[in-house]
Amino acid sequence: MAKIIQAIRGMNDILPNQTYLWEFFEQTVREWMATYGYCNIRLPIIERTDLFVRSIGAVTDIVEKEMYTFVDHLNGDSLTLRPEGTASCVRAVLEHNLLYTGPQKLYYSGPMFRHERPQKGRYRQFHQVGVEALGYAGPDVDVELIVMCAELWDRLGISNVHLEIGTLGSVESRTLYQSKLIGYLEQHLSELDEDAQRRLYRNPLRILDSKNPQMQHIVDGAPKLLDNLDDDALRHFEQLQHMLHSEGINFKINPRLVRGLDYYNRTVFEWVTDELGAQGTICAGGRYDGLIEQIGGKSTPACGFAMGVERLLLLVLGNNKEIPNPVPDAYVVHQGEIAKKFAWKSARYLRYHGVKIILHCGGGNFKVQMKKADASGARFAVIIGDHEAETEIISIKPLREKAEQVSVGLLEAVVLLKNI
Ligand code: ATP
Ligand code: MG
Repeated sequence: MAKIIQAIRGMNDILPNQTYLWEFFEQTVREWMATYGYCNIRLPIIERTDLFVRSIGAVTDIVEKEMYTFVDHLNGDSLTLRPEGTASCVRAVLEHNLLYTGPQKLYYSGPMFRHERPQKGRYRQFHQVGVEALGYAGPDVDVELIVMCAELWDRLGISNVHLEIGTLGSVESRTLYQSKLIGYLEQHLSELDEDAQRRLYRNPLRILDSKNPQMQHIVDGAPKLLDNLDDDALRHFEQLQHMLHSEGINFKINPRLVRGLDYYNRTVFEWVTDELGAQGTICAGGRYDGLIEQIGGKSTPACGFAMGVERLLLLVLGNNKEIPNPVPDAYVVHQGEIAKKFAWKSARYLRYHGVKIILHCGGGNFKVQMKKADASGARFAVIIGDHEAETEIISIKPLREKAEQVSVGLLEAVVLLKNI
């Protein structure tokens, strides 16, 4: 026998015993987005490499090490499997001129690809739900986005997450701060790891985002961006905090929140849990007022976030929320030619009236079929023999509780099987 070909490391199958959880999540997201008036946008999984280099930034973990980039051999184009969604979303908005009709509140979901070391909560293909408010200067919309997240955690039954916020100021104040930071880091040159040495002059802020424990004391001692903000950004940040307070949202200011992508300015935030180890950030976002212009549009303020679906679902499972696992209402067993015909007719009738039916396929005697019915998880077995077929009265046997088998007509069966 040929050897089974396996999936690529870090790219997971989502099996039927998990998909009910995904579907519950997806349904929750759709309803939640609708209540805030955000519209769904669907984007390609592959984009031109340049789009990500220009938006995420050339000197970032994602662009330097994590992208799946390849050449389209038909025309030599460099293409990349999307590592995140904001760049594509902004590209689509510009390409289709959506901002012409006014600001846009959008969301998308789907797989993202990053070449990272796979571990719990970190995969090479993972899923995000991203939400973007384009054309809004905030800070009201920044707060709306954060409030929305808090509400989603409620809907998902997640309680153990907290909010960290920060601000990156304006591009100008950040540039001034960068030179201060470089001055500080130069004093610790020999202690900087390879990544940090390489980034020292090209992108020193990234060094504050370092995950290397040996770098933590250097990061801790660095001058703080928060102490070097411009007045407008400071006011924006104060208003943001004020509104969060009045919306009853608890938060912690994290002066080291720089985020792994270049395009952010002003507000940045992360929702963090301590239940998932180093993969504790379940949702991250912020304001990116410069991005739209950077990729060719008219200067337009914008704010958004993305959450990691796998990490969220790990939390949902850990929080013991009862997720409805959709089991079939009934499994229809039948034996004999006449019975088979009536079984098909009954199944069609019951399904038409909204009953979830598995109709036995593959023959076999009643005993064998009843075993299948039991294993299917269905709440009832519908039993159809020749006698049932002739009288058009079916037998219904409860499979999950001790109760009598009953014989009823199809109309009555609908009521019984749907538990009305
Ligand atoms: P991390 O610091 O964990 O690498 P990040 O800053 O790279 O996260 P973002 O680019 O902000 O992540 O993506 C938003 C969210 O997507 C993250 O908060 C996380 O929940 C999720 N995420 C990011 N990378 C992965 C991955 N490789 N596997 C699973 N989820 C991920
Ligand atoms: Mg990362």
